[in-house]
Amino acid sequence: MAHTAAAAYDKLIFELSSPGRVAWSLADADVPEADARKLLPEKHLRKDAPALPEVSEFDVVRHYSRLSRMNYGVDTHFYPLGSCTMKYNPRINEDMARLPGFARLHPLAAETLAQGALELMHALAWDLAEIAGMDAVSLQPAAGAQGEFTGVLMIRAYHLSRGEKRTKVLIPDSAHGTNPASTAIAGYEVVEVKSLPNGEVDVNALARTLDTDVAAFMITVPNTLGMFEPRIVEITELCHAKGVQVYMDGANLNAILGITRPGDLGFDVCHFNLHKTFTTPHGGGGPGAGPVGVKAHLEPFLPVPVVTKDGDAYALDWKRPKSIGKLQAFWGNFGMLVRAYTYIRTMGPDGLRAVSDNAILNANYIMKRLEKDYDVAVPGPCMHECVVSARRQKKLGVTATDIAKRLLDLGFYAPSTYFPLIVEEALMIEPTETEAKETLDQFCDAMIQIARETEANAAVIHDAPLTTPVRRLDQTKAAREPDLRWSRRP
Ligand SMILES: *Cc1c(COP(=O)(O)O)cnc(C)c1O
Repeated sequence: MAHTAAAAYDKLIFELSSPGRVAWSLADADVPEADARKLLPEKHLRKDAPALPEVSEFDVVRHYSRLSRMNYGVDTHFYPLGSCTMKYNPRINEDMARLPGFARLHPLAAETLAQGALELMHALAWDLAEIAGMDAVSLQPAAGAQGEFTGVLMIRAYHLSRGEKRTKVLIPDSAHGTNPASTAIAGYEVVEVKSLPNGEVDVNALARTLDTDVAAFMITVPNTLGMFEPRIVEITELCHAKGVQVYMDGANLNAILGITRPGDLGFDVCHFNLHKTFTTPHGGGGPGAGPVGVKAHLEPFLPVPVVTKDGDAYALDWKRPKSIGKLQAFWGNFGMLVRAYTYIRTMGPDGLRAVSDNAILNANYIMKRLEKDYDVAVPGPCMHECVVSARRQKKLGVTATDIAKRLLDLGFYAPSTYFPLIVEEALMIEPTETEAKETLDQFCDAMIQIARETEANAAVIHDAPLTTPVRRLDQTKAAREPDLRWSRRP
């Protein structure tokens, strides 16, 4: 292949291999060398040498640096992926997570040798409980989805402890896919509750569905259209009157920090996505962290172990007969807990409140700037994200996917598309509080440019993206059978 910039990306690290080339240099052994065949049983000896690339350190560094530049992340670009809260991850969090006392602590170290780590977990759980108005928090779940699963298992254990065998969980049709999935895995029948056209819960429909078979109602606040549920207190009271537990999907907590609290709204359980609201790195398959908070009546059911404090000593409490059991390897994704704790402490209560104020301001700014060129899903004001619909553009042959692809050419990551499912051609835009007005303006300019191109020359948009390392992929196949080889691109 010619010497083009693209050619540099064309090789797998295996293809850079040159026999005998190495990336290490070791001093001569100062102990006698022995033949492995004399030391190890035959069955543990490999027959053939491993097919590893033989490359220099420089080859390795250049190869992976090149690949990293093909990546798209919040450190390089605006990332308005709605519902995901892709905010900046302050570097001080990384410094703290790398402190050797945390980073090099063995997960099975004796409690007496891990007091600092246990103290941090105890303090973080307390902070999250305070932020959400809950009485206790488990830090174990590794993602929001696992937090949901944990919460639903606790709700089940609670009902069973009262001799009630309820079989259904109600979930609005605007919900994120993990809600029905984690509920079904926990053994419940999922019953969908229709939303009103503006995305709010249809309280009358809900009231008709609530009966003694219903274990819980699971709802996202603000909802997935970026709207605060105006009748939420009425809803939680209605549920409680029928013995139904209320679960808040806390993925959108970025909108309400310091403004209101799930516990005060009447929720019994809620999860936190530390990788969304609390800045821990997000994406690439994790790790994430999805702590779950509960009111006092559910505390006995928390996963074991629970970090306890006695005087100045911290300990892991395993003797909890009503616990739903252990959920996650070791104590959860501890590095994420250090980052989130650092973030909460650096922000303080006023800082966290300012997060939500600014996130809401940014989303409303974008919504206002786009409302002439795109249909807004629900007339504003919105909370921390806004949902627009490309239904107007679709009449001219341009879909939400086309718009998302064109944005990549214009230097922006795409918003979430086709979610929530109840909005036709949805584009869900979440700017987060960490973006400046200049960036928001550039993004809005790009969106408006695409709307104009749709009217003038839709063909440009159908070909997009033109400037990315790969063009339009079969998205399902790309996710299921990733083929990272440039030269085989379609
Ligand atoms: C992200 C998200 C979830 C799931 O959280 P994960 O940490 O990705 O498992 C659930 N509900 C909503 C509304 C979300 O945005």
